Amino acid sequence: ASIFAAVEMAPRDPILGLNEAFAADTRAEKVNLGVGVYYDDNGKIPLLGAVRAAEKTRLEAMPPRGYQPIEGPAAYNGAVQNLLFGKGSELATSGQVVTVEALGGTGALKVGADYLKRLLPGASVYISDPSWENHRALFESAGFPVQTYAYYDAATRGVNFAGMKASLEAAPAGSIIVLHACCHNPTGADLSDAQWDEVVAACRNRGLVPFLDMAYQGFADGIDADAVAVRAFSASGLQFFVSSSFSKSFSLYGERVGALSIVTASKEEAGRVLSQVKRVIRTNYSNPPIHGGAIVAAVLNSPELRQQWEDELAGMRDRIRAMRTSLVEQLKAEGVAQDFSFVIKQRGMFSYTGLTAGQVEKLKADFGIYAVSTGRICLAALNSKNIGYVAKAIAQVVK
Ligand code: PMP
Repeated sequence: ASIFAAVEMAPRDPILGLNEAFAADTRAEKVNLGVGVYYDDNGKIPLLGAVRAAEKTRLEAMPPRGYQPIEGPAAYNGAVQNLLFGKGSELATSGQVVTVEALGGTGALKVGADYLKRLLPGASVYISDPSWENHRALFESAGFPVQTYAYYDAATRGVNFAGMKASLEAAPAGSIIVLHACCHNPTGADLSDAQWDEVVAACRNRGLVPFLDMAYQGFADGIDADAVAVRAFSASGLQFFVSSSFSKSFSLYGERVGALSIVTASKEEAGRVLSQVKRVIRTNYSNPPIHGGAIVAAVLNSPELRQQWEDELAGMRDRIRAMRTSLVEQLKAEGVAQDFSFVIKQRGMFSYTGLTAGQVEKLKADFGIYAVSTGRICLAALNSKNIGYVAKAIAQVVK
């Protein structure tokens, strides 16, 4: 018999399944709000002008394709540190932060999780309730038991901060706490600056190990404003992990560009930690691919391209915000009595709309509008052409 004869079919990824169903839908007016990707007003994934310029230069240079350092190039890792911790900041200059290039935010989480399993083999991992669905799978596959901490409050469509704090205070010392640094996926509900200070204090008091996941820097208020959580932990003197991604902020999804940063207590400690993280990388994929990181480094290290990128990022951010406001206004105009203004307060690409699984099903069946059954929608999939149709459809299903 085949060695695969008894292999069972793995459960379908719910969001990828949604995309397949969407692709098979023949209705011209169909809309996919289930994705986690930024589309422009024409419904296209943008290729940023700053990326285009850097790629043109690189193509003309025709550089050779040797192996990269295991941790990625210094020009890239330094640029990542400047974005996360602030240019010229103590952490970006002290040498106490280990930064390695990784295959997107997912790759950064995976390298971090594998390294943490070697460092803290008996720890538990806590993720928010709810969280990006891959968080649990990633940390479980690294060998950790994964629990949740209270996070979303369905009544206010915001954060249940008292519950979150109580969860953190009840977690055993040495537990790893995965925190969404900004633009919480899937809810869109973020902590305030003051609440971040309280989370830092709870991590300090309880001896917890913070792991910040920063997949959407620049999608809420701006590069520095969205780094508030990273900066609060930076000021604390605690050790912590940060996974970061350029998938969204550079619209480079398929190039797999991200980084893992580990804040240690000293430059000397950082040297030893880096040597161990390199072993994890070496036995996984040896060293990162060249292209995506080279483009990001070229943009971030050139004053002109950096400015162009920031302007383009602001354009994406502003368009999402405009869609939030417009959706709320159009729902009102359609005569929806329910107050949807929370959609304007939620941040980043997503909103937990409060639509029930039944209403989501009806949107799909009656209108060809696809959303996640939890009621999560991607605001960046709305545009000036489809928003009126979506608002009318939502109005119909909630009435
Ligand atoms: N973390 C969160 C919270 C995310 O939403 C995502 C992407 N959807 C990632 C990590 C992974 O990002 P990447 O695509 O760069 O692997």
